[in-house]
Amino acid sequence: MIDSHCHIAGPEFAGDLDAVIARARAAHVAHALVILAADDGAELEQAAVVSAAWPDVRFSIGVHPHAAGKFGDDPAAAARSVDAAIDRQPLTRGLGEIGLDYHYDFAPRAAQQQVFREQIRLAQRRRLPIVIHTREATEDTFAILAEESAADVGGVFHCFTGDRDMARRVLDIGFHVSLAGIVTFPRALELHEVARLVPLDRLLIETDSPFLAPVPHRGTRNEPAHVVRVAERIAELRGVPAATVTAAAVANFTSLFKP
Ligand SMILES: [Zn+2]
Ligand SMILES: [Zn+2]
Repeated sequence: MIDSHCHIAGPEFAGDLDAVIARARAAHVAHALVILAADDGAELEQAAVVSAAWPDVRFSIGVHPHAAGKFGDDPAAAARSVDAAIDRQPLTRGLGEIGLDYHYDFAPRAAQQQVFREQIRLAQRRRLPIVIHTREATEDTFAILAEESAADVGGVFHCFTGDRDMARRVLDIGFHVSLAGIVTFPRALELHEVARLVPLDRLLIETDSPFLAPVPHRGTRNEPAHVVRVAERIAELRGVPAATVTAAAVANFTSLFKP
């Protein structure tokens, strides 16, 4: 199994990283894609500690929409900082998470859009798939992806929380859908339908650790070992063995990120 999106180079895991990795391995989570924020020097440094403890991890680096305001005067500087961070991290296999978040609006929307665009252009120059974070910004997200020809590099809508119509649009433009622990929540009925709809060859599975722990761990710090529970719930919803879902997610991860 692979956790396709987690933040274990963050401060939440600094105190017990070895134990977190041991539990992931014991749960047969062999790999993880660890997200790094290009504007967070401490996290970029901690990446070396993570890869030393868990050599099979790979990294995806980007400027999150929440941080786009830092680059409001010079959006191209966001892409330059990502470019430099990728140069320093040879295990980088993706660019992100990048995108738009109009739920929190932590950065002005114009800055979010320009920083998103600059990073898509960088992904094309570096031939890296993109990891997209989008919340309450569906139309602008699809418009920018189309205008910037993002399908050339492809990628994934991480922690997908949209409805079936949005999922179909993601699939139509050739991107993958990644489901996180929210799919285990009993009231996430529309997301359950999405879990049944996404073709097995376009599905990824993630924890987004430390956020969004699945049932029965809800409300605690999430960690990569819990990705197994997400896979099991998707398998239940689809009426197939968990091994079928797990094998598909691993194959999709491998073809998209070439770990
Ligand atoms: Zn995100
Ligand atoms: Zn994330």
